[in-house]
Amino acid sequence: MTSRSRYVIPLLLLAAAASIVLPLVHPVNGYLLNLFMQAATYAMAVLGLTVVLGYAGQISIAQAGFFGLGAYGVAIGTTVLHLPFFIGLALGVLVAGLLGAVLGASTLKLGGHYLAMVTISFQQILTLVLTNWISLTRGPDGIRNIPRPSLFGVSLEDSDRYLGLCLLVLYAVGVFVWWLKGTKLGLGMQAVRDNELAAEVVGVDTYRVKVTAFCLSALLGGLGGGLFAGGFGYISPDQFSFNESVVLLTMVLLGGADAAVGSVVGTALLILLPEWLRFLRGAYLAVYGLAVILIMVFMPTGLWGMLSRLGGPPRLRERGVPDVLTLGDPDAAAGGLLLEIKGLAKHFGGLKALDGVDISVERGKVHALIGPNGSGKTTMLNVLSGIYRPTRGEVLVDGVKVSGLAPHELAAAGVGRTFQNIRLFLSLTVLENVVIGAQRPHNSAAQTPDQVQRRAMAALDFVGMAARADLKVASLPYGHQRLVEIARALAGNPTLLLLDEPAAGLNLTEKQELVGLLKRLAGHGLTLFLIDHDMNLVEQMADRITVLNFGKRIAEGAPADVLRHPDVIAAYLGEVPDDAAA
Ligand code: ADP
Ligand code: MG
Repeated sequence: MTSRSRYVIPLLLLAAAASIVLPLVHPVNGYLLNLFMQAATYAMAVLGLTVVLGYAGQISIAQAGFFGLGAYGVAIGTTVLHLPFFIGLALGVLVAGLLGAVLGASTLKLGGHYLAMVTISFQQILTLVLTNWISLTRGPDGIRNIPRPSLFGVSLEDSDRYLGLCLLVLYAVGVFVWWLKGTKLGLGMQAVRDNELAAEVVGVDTYRVKVTAFCLSALLGGLGGGLFAGGFGYISPDQFSFNESVVLLTMVLLGGADAAVGSVVGTALLILLPEWLRFLRGAYLAVYGLAVILIMVFMPTGLWGMLSRLGGPPRLRERGVPDVLTLGDPDAAAGGLLLEIKGLAKHFGGLKALDGVDISVERGKVHALIGPNGSGKTTMLNVLSGIYRPTRGEVLVDGVKVSGLAPHELAAAGVGRTFQNIRLFLSLTVLENVVIGAQRPHNSAAQTPDQVQRRAMAALDFVGMAARADLKVASLPYGHQRLVEIARALAGNPTLLLLDEPAAGLNLTEKQELVGLLKRLAGHGLTLFLIDHDMNLVEQMADRITVLNFGKRIAEGAPADVLRHPDVIAAYLGEVPDDAAA
């Protein structure tokens, strides 16, 4: 926690408590009260958008629809089915969550734009249903006389009390959404948002995480809508239309999509702004629109994003001495083959990026894969980590067939990797990046949240980056980002580590440090499958080398033999350094 939050949190708590108590002591006039009621219930739906859009990066233009489902749950539940208020509310929330899960599950395999389109369609269909299923929803006339509940014998018929309930629920939801951000699920969502491919590869089941985010968001939308129905006593389909979904989206973006407080701020502002601008009469809409656009353009991270940056750079936390990183698999001494690649082919249309390659990697050894540019090395790693399905052939890890598994399943099986072009979660801190790595499923070295933190710090310490744990990873220089990526893979305690050109883009000193690091890894008995262009590095590190050219294996053996092999020299056509060519 930074020094700022020490003041911010008590202040927020004070404001929250005051907002609940004040109306009870000093009743608010009806009009203002309605505004508060609207703001409080809308803010719950906007907090739902914080989860799905702010955390998970998935755009949903159907939030007003879920809000409406909650509202109709209460309205139909109480007035048609004569159920108690809270049963109606539960029903509405459940239906919203269920439909959210179904909609998410059926569309989240598709990318961003499709999701936006599908949610728009869903929103439109829902409006049509609410308008036309007259026997149930009373159609465009809407439903009147929605009652308010009592709670523990206290009637909430009185508007100030009912508002108190709404605010209480709102703050509970706010705290939940704020808390969610730092949990395993919340970090998984942010990983998906920042870099979906990397999230998969470090073990996040991205599809499940996205569906969960979508479902949670719909649940919160339904909750807000249900309380809205009780607040106003009357609802009609036009209150839950596409336009309202856009308003909710604007609210979350305006406040700062990835902060719970931001959502509440954005909602309050967009509901109050029209009131403040009322004196402008005719020009009001234009000024209102302009104000919103200006805020969005000049504060891309929203109002809260900007405010929270005013506090200056993050304060570094004192964390004591990190644990020593345990590495390598316990069976290392047993030897044998850890990785077997058999007749592996990967074709892209007519291009044979890999064309029947066999490689065997011994447990506890460093095996290098080299070859000219475009020879299929990265493709090989992408097949090994599950990003591509092989066209032919198979891959076995520890005797178990793994080809065809999803990347997160391979990660769970103990295959870690880094990328040729670094793929970090750029809006997160160094430590958060590595924590996400440590959270991989079946990580025997880190199971409780406390162990995960310690494991992540140990991995950072191993690569020499522990002192930078609290910095944003995007602020680090390139060489350090490479180290963080390696630490993220190590935190997952892999039995096999795949490294794609770890030395690319490093200067001479950094390269030497990298060699030192890789040697320490090898010394721990960790099996490394290493791609690099730097023959010097490969020769220093590798126990065995396989050479690819045009997707085919052209040589394999001990470094000294392979690097002097005439076919290899011919393949590189002068790319081979002097000492190897000699
Ligand atoms: P290397 O890592 O050895 O430089 P790659 O594995 O990246 O080589 O690429 C091998 C060949 O496969 C190249 O010709 C490349 O253009 C092609 N290739 C790689 N990925 C794809 C893809 N997703 N779609 C089509 N072609 C690809
Ligand atoms: Mg490559």
